[in-house]
Amino acid sequence: MYGRFPKKSDNTKYYGILGVPKNASQDDVKRAYRKAAIKTHPDKGGDPEKFKELSQAYEVLSDPEKREIYDQYGEDGLKDEGGPGHHDPFDIFSSFFGGSSQFGGAPKRKNKGKDVIHPLKVSLEDLYTGTTRKLSLSRNIICIKCKGKGSKSGASTKCSGCKGSGMKVTTRQVGYMIQQMPHQCNECKGSGETINAKDRCHQCKGAKVVKEKKQLEVHVEKGMQNGQRITFAGEADQEPDTITGDIVFLLQQKDHPKFKRNGDDLVFEHTLSLREALCGFQFVLTHLDGRRLLIKSQPGQVVKPDQCKAINGEGMPIYQSGFMKGMLYVHFTVEFPDSINPEVCTGLESVLPHGSGSTSQLTDKELDECEETTLHDVNEDEMRRKKAKQSQEAYEEDEEDMPGGAQRVQCAQQ
Ligand SMILES: [Zn+2]
Ligand SMILES: [Zn+2]
Repeated sequence: MYGRFPKKSDNTKYYGILGVPKNASQDDVKRAYRKAAIKTHPDKGGDPEKFKELSQAYEVLSDPEKREIYDQYGEDGLKDEGGPGHHDPFDIFSSFFGGSSQFGGAPKRKNKGKDVIHPLKVSLEDLYTGTTRKLSLSRNIICIKCKGKGSKSGASTKCSGCKGSGMKVTTRQVGYMIQQMPHQCNECKGSGETINAKDRCHQCKGAKVVKEKKQLEVHVEKGMQNGQRITFAGEADQEPDTITGDIVFLLQQKDHPKFKRNGDDLVFEHTLSLREALCGFQFVLTHLDGRRLLIKSQPGQVVKPDQCKAINGEGMPIYQSGFMKGMLYVHFTVEFPDSINPEVCTGLESVLPHGSGSTSQLTDKELDECEETTLHDVNEDEMRRKKAKQSQEAYEEDEEDMPGGAQRVQCAQQ
């Protein structure tokens, strides 16, 4: 509310690259990637940039967690760690089709396992004081019994279906063209090896991994921001021949009924009666850590509607900077009475100053030359709607000169 409107980040690009609608299923995404990846693979004469973009789009949209973040925040949401383009496009290709990353069959390189992203809801109080959350997670770890071999003897046999490459190629003729369609070997599920049923490890039943429950302590430090990531490196699912991915907690700040956060600053809304605005006020503000602050006006000080006042050092703690804190702004709304007894006006007039638009000194002659009018009430909701519509249009036309923009940032700049 007190900053400029955040730019709405583009969250449609990846859907465009894959040519799928926003509600596309995982299967649709896979199918679209498969079709496009074969066409754009550099080994087949495709454009490497296009291939990279395609891999990024697929990497995000094929992962439900990443897709949710992308739909909400666009590419920016995935920027910090991992993010799009985090994995080698050739690795994505090979993990999709199984086997090696090149059509020619170059040796397998060590893939990085998937990062696991968990949203973590926190209150503004949590971000003000800092907190620790204990979370139990279940993950795959390499079977200790067979050291991830899946067999008792440690032996594995090359899959006969794919001769160990993990990938099969189906050839089909389309008109004069012969098309080669690589796909994951169904016999070994892309691993390139099979384990004799009798030789299977009892612990993991040949799966090479077993489930493990693990408790993580997530330290939310004071001053952390909405959207900030807390990373546990190498704590995601383990897989043989794979660098284990990270577990990432993505902070999501819940709305607060009284305070709004603006970077390191806080904005507190307070309503005054006209009497308090003119003659002075004091009230107790309970801060996010429970401290009670006495807020009061100076003698003779007048607060105008929509005005902000600031208190130094009572905003949010600044992340990793000791005891430094931002500003606390109090934004005032002034409630005027609906009507006033005309008899008391004389008394008020004698004490209130003349405004710049004062018209009380009109001469009789001036009054005779005017036409009389009547002010009547209007539907204020209707007016607000019209105004909102106008400023929306102006915003769309030119977002730099947004009407009301200057007013919006006022609190933050005083
Ligand atoms: Zn196979
Ligand atoms: Zn085992």
